[in-house]
Amino acid sequence: MVDFEIRPSGQPVPEARRKAILAAPGFGRTFTDHMVTLRWCADQGWHDGRVEPYGPFLLDPATAVFHYGQECFEGMKAYRQASGAVGLFRPEENAARFNRSADRVGMPPLPEETFVHALELLVGQDSAWVPDAIGTSLYLRPFMIATEPALGFTLPSDSYLFCVIASPVTAAFDAGTAPRPLTVWLSKDYTRAAPGGTGAAKTGGNYAAAFKATQQAVANGCDQVVWLDALEHRWVEEMGGMNLFFVYAPEGDGRPRIVTPPLTGTLLPGVTRDSLLTLAPQLGLAAEERRISVDQWRQQCATGEITEVFACGTAAVISPVGAVRSAAGDWPVGDGRPGPVTLRLREELLGIQHGNRPDPFSWVR
Ligand code: PMP
Repeated sequence: MVDFEIRPSGQPVPEARRKAILAAPGFGRTFTDHMVTLRWCADQGWHDGRVEPYGPFLLDPATAVFHYGQECFEGMKAYRQASGAVGLFRPEENAARFNRSADRVGMPPLPEETFVHALELLVGQDSAWVPDAIGTSLYLRPFMIATEPALGFTLPSDSYLFCVIASPVTAAFDAGTAPRPLTVWLSKDYTRAAPGGTGAAKTGGNYAAAFKATQQAVANGCDQVVWLDALEHRWVEEMGGMNLFFVYAPEGDGRPRIVTPPLTGTLLPGVTRDSLLTLAPQLGLAAEERRISVDQWRQQCATGEITEVFACGTAAVISPVGAVRSAAGDWPVGDGRPGPVTLRLREELLGIQHGNRPDPFSWVR
């Protein structure tokens, strides 16, 4: 296991200021007193691990990440538990996905136990920064960048920096404690990921390539983009930072069904997505991975087969989708308000994450 040297900050944010931030944290604009850094080079492997004061890096302008975007990252949260302790939600899933992303962009793997240890050290050092209201949490952003100062681009960088920063947050898109229904934009002009590409990796280029479509969504009065498959522009994939679920009215077995597109390699395998597929049967819901076309989405909303649609991810937890807009037409989902299945899943998931509910799968660490 890699050792980390602890260098506490000599100038932590004063307590009164920290409390004011925690009372209304927003999303990802204020950061805690410390960060974790860890370096890699071929000779030494992972070395120079530190918990140190949060602060800027000094990097050569030729550093590879600035030019070729060789980087990957994760997004996860530490939750204040009902007991007062602090819990991480399935961190080993993020560790595994981090290494799959790293591999896809030619970066070295980080042992999963080192990834989780780094998170635990930072959360332990900055535990006073974990807010306690339901729906608030400490967002953790582990990331790795290519640090070789060289413009050659045929081979990956020969050195890397891993870092973890932390930011107290309110769930994205939340209006108070009730989730606000999103209006989503179906992007036909742009695609996010093609077969064989990087869609299943959490690497910065995927997000850079999405901004233009998101600007288009906002210009059309929408909150978020829904990405369609790159080949036929027909199949629903996911949103900019969330996976999608469709709620179907009960059929013969009397159980509502939640359906999400399968992991085809062009969408991100969300930890929240996986958790809901696992949790649903415990709550009397059927769960299924199946392709859904835009035409089915529209028609089955009209016939009432689809009763609710929601997006899910670490940042937004679970957000209802109230309406769909596209160049080809608009339609409402259900009555446009958050539906009972969406709200139930949200309450259950938040309950487990905050230690207010039994944790049947031992997800909280
Ligand atoms: N899709 C994309 C493109 C994302 O960036 C995210 C956020 N990581 C998700 C889905 C949801 O993943 P998770 O549930 O692990 O946060």
